[in-house]
Amino acid sequence: MKSSVIGFPRIGRDRELKFASEKFFRGEISEDSLSETAREIRKSNIVTQKNAGIDLISSNDFSFYDNVLDTAFLFQIVPQRYLDLDLSDLEKYFAAARGYQGEKGNVKALPMKKWFNTNYHYIVPEFSDDTKIEYIGNKPVSEYLEAKALGVDTKVLLIGPFTFLKLTKFIGSKKAEDVAEDLANEYVKLFSDLSSAGASKIQLDEPYLVRDLDSSDIALFKKIYDILLSNKNGLSITLQTYFGDIRDIYSEVVNLDFDAIGLDFVEGRKTLSLLKENGFPKDKVLVAGVVNGKNIWKNDYSKTSSILSEIKTVVSEDNLVIGTSCSLLHVPYTLASESKIPAEYKKHFAFAEEKLLELSDLSNLKEEKLAENKALFEKRPDCVDEKVQARVAAIKESDYTRLPAFDEREAIQKEKLGLPKFPTTTIGSFPQTADVRKNRSEFRKGEITKEEYVDFNKKKIEECIRLQEEIGLDVLVHGEFERNDMVEYFGEHLSGYVFTEKAWVLSYGTRCVKPPIVWGDVSRKEPITVEWSKFAKSCTNKPVKGMLTGPVTILNWSFPREDITIKESIQQIALAIRDEVLDLEANGINIIQIDEAALREKLPLRKSDWYSEYLDFAIPAFRLVHSGVKPETQIHTHMCYSEFTDIIPAIDNMDADVITFEASRSDMQILDSLKENHFKTEVGPGVYDIHSPRVPSVDELVAQLSRIREKTEDKKLWVNPDCGLKTRGEEETVKSLKNLVAAAKIIREK
Ligand code: GLN
Ligand code: ZN
Repeated sequence: MKSSVIGFPRIGRDRELKFASEKFFRGEISEDSLSETAREIRKSNIVTQKNAGIDLISSNDFSFYDNVLDTAFLFQIVPQRYLDLDLSDLEKYFAAARGYQGEKGNVKALPMKKWFNTNYHYIVPEFSDDTKIEYIGNKPVSEYLEAKALGVDTKVLLIGPFTFLKLTKFIGSKKAEDVAEDLANEYVKLFSDLSSAGASKIQLDEPYLVRDLDSSDIALFKKIYDILLSNKNGLSITLQTYFGDIRDIYSEVVNLDFDAIGLDFVEGRKTLSLLKENGFPKDKVLVAGVVNGKNIWKNDYSKTSSILSEIKTVVSEDNLVIGTSCSLLHVPYTLASESKIPAEYKKHFAFAEEKLLELSDLSNLKEEKLAENKALFEKRPDCVDEKVQARVAAIKESDYTRLPAFDEREAIQKEKLGLPKFPTTTIGSFPQTADVRKNRSEFRKGEITKEEYVDFNKKKIEECIRLQEEIGLDVLVHGEFERNDMVEYFGEHLSGYVFTEKAWVLSYGTRCVKPPIVWGDVSRKEPITVEWSKFAKSCTNKPVKGMLTGPVTILNWSFPREDITIKESIQQIALAIRDEVLDLEANGINIIQIDEAALREKLPLRKSDWYSEYLDFAIPAFRLVHSGVKPETQIHTHMCYSEFTDIIPAIDNMDADVITFEASRSDMQILDSLKENHFKTEVGPGVYDIHSPRVPSVDELVAQLSRIREKTEDKKLWVNPDCGLKTRGEEETVKSLKNLVAAAKIIREK
């Protein structure tokens, strides 16, 4: 069988693209020099895939910032405000991606959104009534030729026009349907160009097909592809889908004149049954996505072989290509860069480069490879902790319910905490100044003693408490000076986790994250935050809020296990964090915030799966964390982004006492929904945007609070910024918080 890779990571093995881009932004290197780095990365990617024996390699999977933005520029679907800047083409592109402020103008960046159910973010194209679609870019052609010069006849990756239009924001009167034909015609011009350049294969990525589609979506898709497929210009066209199955459009798709269709057999729960029930045309190639492009575990060859055998009952071997389930963009480059992971652990992982070898193994599976691989799945060291499993098994239904019920607790807490009306607080972190980071890094490198490290943090905590008292906040925090990252910090204190050195994965632009790996059963090694919170409390008579990360966020920002369910992993983490909650309470911390910043992130792409595949266990897991506390202990939670308008009942069901969330940038639509849904949880809709250094004035904050009060009951309203302050400077933080406290006082007196 032949093998195919949808796309390869593009940041560079050592994040060369990130460092070169940053230098370019600082004006330290030229555009040519940045382009040279990019070229080196592309070449190395092509050569790596070629040497691994991959038959179908993509070109044009590279991007300086984002492939959706590349597509927008390729067809001039770019707001005039960027095109008008007197800058080079690449600088205009970066202006749209990151904003531009300088002598040539001042424009904000286009917004960014999560790419399906990944932690990668794409730039949202904007279409206005005077946008004129025109194919002008030459990136696909030049990157095709570049690979050709290396002796590889690539398939050219393009974001498909359907997905592109579905992700575009239409700000004028035109809709996707109105411009679909124009866009399809411009794609045809691109096809012709590629064909003239010698290309023979195109891969059109249409991941939007795995979402819930209605009849108008299907009509739009057909309208576009009627044009594209009757103008193939001699090219072989692969329709590539990923991140799920295409149940809503399968029968339409297989009847269109595609040469090959790529389906996801990893995340697509129904892919195999769709194939078996509906068949697959004899004249087309099936690219079977069987190697997981999103997780870092070795492929289970026996399992994959049995999937392939089932596929072969429908598709002949000649028409079968094996591939990755999605682009390898979502996994790190190579295990070769990891020097600290023990060998007996390492052999269970496969990053992008190792996945190439898996494809080559699988394309012609030899007995000894199969046996070697089987052994890996028979035993994995140190991943079973019977105590943890017994604890999970012993969870009772009642453990998911906190008693007494909310109303009763609310009254008890009001009485006990004695907070003023409209209590003021923050989300947890305070500015992470250079000295704070230096203290942590020196401690990590062994340059200072534990005692020195702790003393420094205590000094910072004490200063932070004094500062909050002086500002006049009601519920104080310790400031989170000990944390690098809200997930890694907890992971480091939990057993069952493995950490990497260079396993970077792109999040947006050239910014990467390094998710830890859940290796085995998770439990808490020792109290994690108790000493810090206890110390903070000892510094003041005001209430101090303990600060934890919740189980759903911890798991969503890690590479999860595949040998147990996500539900089980979340339950294990929930029990670990529950221990921490109870320890904090036992140490006199009677307000505890459990952050679920990433709760929304793994919401399934299909609405019908929202509850059964996710919320039905994610929400109870959160309740498991806090159900053991006394009625008078107040549980807060925090979520970034207010994008939960559609799952408000589920959020209320977390049964926290207070929730804070980002609302300052949204149109307050969330507040209407809270009201309509009789949201019981007390709320702190962030009153100012911490993502900007701007200091909001007292008047502005009073006005914002008045707007909020129109929609929220006074007795449920908290006053706070919209997220943690760690990325902010000290000066603007103090000014902003003083204004926030002043605004709360004004509305109290009104
Ligand atoms: N408590 C965390 C902080 O303040 C929350 C961060 C987040 O929501 N991303 O930094
Ligand atoms: Zn946040």
